[in-house]
Amino acid sequence: MAIVPARIRHFIDGRFVESVSGKTFTYLNPYTGKVLGEVTEGFQEDIDRAVQAAKRAFVDGPWGKMSVAERLRYVERFADLIEKYGDELAELESIDTGLPISQTKNQAARAAENFRFYASMVRSRLVGEAYRVDDKFINYTIYKPLGVAGLITPWNAPLMLSTWKIAPALATGNTAVLKPAEWTPLTANKLAEIAAEAGLPDGVFNVVYGFGETAGASLVAHPDVRLISFTGETTTGTIIMKNAADTLKKLSMELGGKSPAILFADADLERALDAVIWGVFSFNGERCTANSRLLVERTIYEEVVRRLKARIDRIVLGDPLDPKTEVGPLIHPEHHARVQGYIDLARQEGAEVVQAPLPEALTGKPFIPPTLLLGVDNRMRVAQEEIFGPVLAVIPFDTEEEALRIANDVKYGLAAYIWTKDIQRAHRLSQRIESGMVWINSQNVRDLRIPFGGTKASGIGREGGHYSFDFYTEVQVIHVAIGDHPIPKFGR
Ligand code: NAD
Repeated sequence: MAIVPARIRHFIDGRFVESVSGKTFTYLNPYTGKVLGEVTEGFQEDIDRAVQAAKRAFVDGPWGKMSVAERLRYVERFADLIEKYGDELAELESIDTGLPISQTKNQAARAAENFRFYASMVRSRLVGEAYRVDDKFINYTIYKPLGVAGLITPWNAPLMLSTWKIAPALATGNTAVLKPAEWTPLTANKLAEIAAEAGLPDGVFNVVYGFGETAGASLVAHPDVRLISFTGETTTGTIIMKNAADTLKKLSMELGGKSPAILFADADLERALDAVIWGVFSFNGERCTANSRLLVERTIYEEVVRRLKARIDRIVLGDPLDPKTEVGPLIHPEHHARVQGYIDLARQEGAEVVQAPLPEALTGKPFIPPTLLLGVDNRMRVAQEEIFGPVLAVIPFDTEEEALRIANDVKYGLAAYIWTKDIQRAHRLSQRIESGMVWINSQNVRDLRIPFGGTKASGIGREGGHYSFDFYTEVQVIHVAIGDHPIPKFGR
C-alpha cells in the first residue's frame, strides 16, 4: 500500500522545503472525505525561488551545457523510475483523485511512456534544416530550448498531464517549474522524489504547490519564465493569457470541451455504445475529451436510449482502490455540487434525467451515478457548457447536415467521434467538424506522435509528437557566407 505523506513540501533546487510564509493547506481523499495531509502553500516568493533555481540550472548549471545524450539519459531514468514505482503511483493517483485503480494503472504506464517517447523524439526528430544558396551561402536552422518553462496542471489526471508537460520540457533542454492543482498534490510529490532519486541536477525540475490566483498567477507573471504550458478550464486560460501579456510569454492552452459523438444508423452499434459509454463515464466523467453529447440518428434513437439505460445500470460504482470499480467519486464536494447543479438545471430546462442507482453504501459521498439527459435541445445550457462529470446529453438528428450543425454549435472544439460505415460520409463530416481531433469508428485512442489540442474555446496550440517542439523550443537561423557575395559599399 502506498504511503501517503502527512506533509508535502515544495521541491526547489533539489531540496524539499517549506514555504517562506510557513503557510499550509489541506487536501482530501475524495472517497473517504478524510483530510490526507498538509501541503506547503506557495506564494510569489516561493515561485521566485524556484524560478531562480531553474534559471541557474539552465544558464550556469550543468543542464544547459550537458550533451544531448547525457540529458536524455536523465529523461529515460525518469521513465525507468516511474515504471519501478508504477503501482505506487497508480495507488497515489487513485487516493488523490478518486479515479479507479484499473484506470490509474494505465495512466502510470502512460506517464513513463511520455518520458521514453520524448527522449526518442528529441534524438531522432529535433533536427534543423539547411538551405544552400548557390555557392554563396549555406543557411541553417537550429532548435534551442527557451529557458524556464512554467507548467500548470489541473486535478483531473494530474500524473498523466504533468508528465505530458515535464517530459518534452526537459527533453528539449528547458528547466521547469510545475504548479500542480491544489486538490491533487500527491503524484507531483512522488515525481519530485523520483527526480531526486534520478540524480537530476539541482534546479532542473521544481514543484511549487499553491492556489491558482497566487502561486499560479506568480508563475505566469514571472519575467524569467519564458513559456507557460497550461491545462485547465477555458476561463482560467483567458485569465492566464491576459496576465502573460506583460512579459510576452509563449503559451500553450489545453482547455475545456463539449465534444460530440455522432452515431449514424449504419454504425456497428455495439462497438459504438462501448466507446460512447467508456468515453463519457471513464475517469469518473472528469475527462476533457469526453463525448459528453451523443448525437443519434433519429431512426435508432429509441433503441440507443433503451440500450444505454440498460448499460448504465450495470456500471460498477465504488471504492477507487477496488479493481472492479468502474466509476469512483468526483474529486471534491465543491465539484460534486457543481455537477449536481447541472443535473438540476437539466430538469429545469425540460430534459428527462435518467440515472443509474447509487449503492446505499455510497450515499453521502461525492458520487454522481452515470447519468443520461434525454430530450435535450442543443441550445440548453446543459448541452452548451462543460459539466465535467459522468453525464451524457443525448440529442436526436435527422440528417448529416443537421448533425454537423449541432456538433459545431458550441463554443468548444476539442474532440469529435463519428460512428458510421459510410467511409465517404465519415471523412466528409470529419473535415467539416470544428474540433482539433476527430476519431472515426474509434474510442479515444492516442498516438503520441500526432498533435493533441483543440480549436475555438478548447485551446490554442498543439502538443504531442514534433508539434511539441514548436512550443518548447525556438528556431534560430544562422546565415553563413561560403563565398564572397557582393556587399554594398557606403562612404567609399
Ligand atoms: P482550473 O482552470 O480551475 O485549474 C487548472 C490549474 O490552473 C490549477 O493548477 C489552478 O491552480 C491553476 N490556476 C487557476 N487560476 C489560475 C491563475 N489565475 N493563474 C495561473 N494558474 C491558475 O481547471 P481544473 O478545474 O483544475 O481542471 C478541469 C478543467 O481542465 C476542465 O475544463 C477540463 O476540460 C480541462 N482539461 C483540459 C485538457 C485538455 O487537454 N484540453 C485536459 C484535462 C483537463
